[in-house]
Amino acid sequence: MKYDFLVVGAGLFGAIFAYEAKKRGKSVLVIDKRNHIAGNIYTENVDGINVHKYGAHIFHTSNKKIWEYVNNFAEFNNYINAPVAIYKDELYNLPFNMNTFSKLWNIKTPDEAKAIIEKQRQESGITDPKNLEEQAISLVGKDVYEKLIKGYTEKQWGRDAKELPAFIIKRLPLRFTFDNNYFNDRYQGIPIGGYTGIVEKLLEGIEVRANTEYRDFIKENPDIADKTVYTGMIDEFFDYKLGVLEYRRVYFEDERLDTDNYQGNAVVNYTERDVKFTRIIEHKHFEYGNQDFTIISKEYPTEWQKGEEPYYPINNEKNNALYESYVELSKSRPEIIFGGRLGAYKYYDMDKVVEAALECVEKNL
Ligand code: FAD
Repeated sequence: MKYDFLVVGAGLFGAIFAYEAKKRGKSVLVIDKRNHIAGNIYTENVDGINVHKYGAHIFHTSNKKIWEYVNNFAEFNNYINAPVAIYKDELYNLPFNMNTFSKLWNIKTPDEAKAIIEKQRQESGITDPKNLEEQAISLVGKDVYEKLIKGYTEKQWGRDAKELPAFIIKRLPLRFTFDNNYFNDRYQGIPIGGYTGIVEKLLEGIEVRANTEYRDFIKENPDIADKTVYTGMIDEFFDYKLGVLEYRRVYFEDERLDTDNYQGNAVVNYTERDVKFTRIIEHKHFEYGNQDFTIISKEYPTEWQKGEEPYYPINNEKNNALYESYVELSKSRPEIIFGGRLGAYKYYDMDKVVEAALECVEKNL
């Protein structure tokens, strides 16, 4: 059978495209090389706890249309992300707000906090930041930087903050209210029952083949579809012929523990460099679980090698220019539509992926 569309990747982007194509009467086949659907938003139900297998995912957006769209496929709870940070034996609220400042300096008012930060910025004497360390200190002063930014960022990038370019940190929002809500967005929550259910609903009635790698599949089925929506890595599609786009990788260590509440919060950041992981996620707290056990995941950022699972694109000048060359090259293959975080070589939050998928639908259907 020949399909109107072959969708490569059963992640959020591919699933939305497939759903909208089917709705418009098109025939669609979805393939994914993994043994499951949902891509990186895949959640696995382990005895009632939905484990975010590729890292903690919190849906947040200020776009009402996107919020209403995703609510067609799941009921969201009222989870608010309010991470805490542990530095040595001290515990701080995030994002940087009056709770953080009052713990750091034993102060009570916004004016006191502003005065300390301003004094530290002045004392640094930095006017033209040359690296990430200087950039961060010039924005927030040395205390917030040393306790809450330095170690975490160095672990994330695997390099000393002095060796990292200043542009990585453009701004560091400081909040002079007692508000621990990490995101500024109007809408926020976790889909009750996990993210996989959203993708299951999107793909209802659509033929999906898991464990199916595009390259092998297309060799055997060269005429399977008129058009292909490709949500894998754009450089891999072209056999890396212009070069390799680089990523950072995250390694997750999951543990099931015989306690009902390990850390009292879904997300706890470890901001000193000597602790090798960056965060511990306790999955049950995303959905207010009351099981008598818990599951935690420690996150270790690591170097990425070609062939490994890509997580965060390294959008430096070199990689962005290389990506643009691949975009040029892709014009020679108009029957292939590249999309999603890997096709666009971009860190996309989920709401932005939904937006991009719907734009792609508008353009191509
Ligand atoms: P993916 O989910 O990666 O889907 C692509 C699919 O294509 C995969 O299933 C893959 O197996 C398949 N594929 C690739 N190549 C091939 C091939 N050759 N053949 C067959 N199949 C192939 N966003 C938020 O909004 N909030 C968060 O809290 C958040 N946290 C995140 C935490 C981490 C650690 C990371 C890395 C991302 C986070 N995101 C978050 C972003 C979110 O994960 C993405 O927006 C979303 O998953 C992207 O969907 P996608 O469909 O573009 O890509």
